[in-house]
Amino acid sequence: MQAVEKVGQSGWYILGKEVVDFEEALGKYWGRKYVIGVANGMDAIEIGLRCLGVRSGDKVLTTPLTAFATSLAILRIGAIPVYVDVDSCGLMNLSQAKDVLQGDTSIRAVLPVHLYGFSLHLGNLDLLQSEAGVPVLEDCAQSIGARHDNRLAGSVGRCAATSFYPTKNLGAMGDGGALITDDQSIEVSARRLRNYGQSAQYMHEEVGLNSRLDELQAAILKDGMLPQLSQGTRRRCEVADRYLNEIRNPAIELLKPPAGCMPVWHLFPVLTPPSHRDDFRIYLHGHGIGSGVHYPKLLVEQPALGKYGRFEVATELTKAGHLSRNVVSLPIHPFLADSEIDLVIDVCNRWKP
Ligand SMILES: *Cc1c(COP(=O)(O)O)cnc(C)c1O
Repeated sequence: MQAVEKVGQSGWYILGKEVVDFEEALGKYWGRKYVIGVANGMDAIEIGLRCLGVRSGDKVLTTPLTAFATSLAILRIGAIPVYVDVDSCGLMNLSQAKDVLQGDTSIRAVLPVHLYGFSLHLGNLDLLQSEAGVPVLEDCAQSIGARHDNRLAGSVGRCAATSFYPTKNLGAMGDGGALITDDQSIEVSARRLRNYGQSAQYMHEEVGLNSRLDELQAAILKDGMLPQLSQGTRRRCEVADRYLNEIRNPAIELLKPPAGCMPVWHLFPVLTPPSHRDDFRIYLHGHGIGSGVHYPKLLVEQPALGKYGRFEVATELTKAGHLSRNVVSLPIHPFLADSEIDLVIDVCNRWKP
């Protein structure tokens, strides 16, 4: 609330000191040179892809198991998503991705998602980018602070995008997002694109967006939310550790993070036996426990994509399909009380499908 007061008093609401200071603070947290604050996570992806040279009609390799916004950013450019399957953790299958890139040299960018707060294998992602010579944009909307082999998710791609949607691990009191990069040419181009494509006042270098992070959200993020991020992540990890150690029900399969990954547990996904997801959710609800499904449909099954018409499915989407049919997200966030965690564990352990 002090941040809101401060910005209100300042009388300066768009592209001022607060945005600059927040960009610098987030760059420090992430260990990358440039952060460009934008209006939301989806725009961060669109702007990032455009900075990587993706144009209408170009192909972008991506995952079918994610928020629709990941692919929507591709569609908004007029580009063509190409889907590969995920691994058993729900993350893009990088060995399949490598084969697809070798077989189709017209793919212009790779857009993987660090889903659920897990990090992909960053060493392999790095290799994929350098060997295939195709730039990677990492979707870090769910994974701020996640690590693999002690490197941060969002540190190997030519650029990374994140979201400050209120439910994200670093959430604002409204919409917000950012593009993160070490590449100065991407930084320059992203700053133009977020502000009508202006290179100087009233000089429009290219067809840009109106996609600015506002001063209010930047101040709230910098003064209110970013300082609490590490503590919030620690609490999420404590909750996850308890679930991992204490939920013991053969009918509930815990989705373990990939080897070498230190997740930030944006979500806590579990798998139910085939055709039992709805029963399980109703049962949880009956005990006062909310749950979610991330995600109930593969992106290729979405009507909007069917209408758009231009997409490719490069491999069988077997694992992604299995997850989308059977996954359930248990409650996880920094404000869960110990007694609530006890309840979730107890209720899960007593479930009989
Ligand atoms: C939330 C989310 C987005 C979109 O972010 P917005 O700020 O809502 O536009 C993109 N990708 C993933 C994986 C997300 O979880």
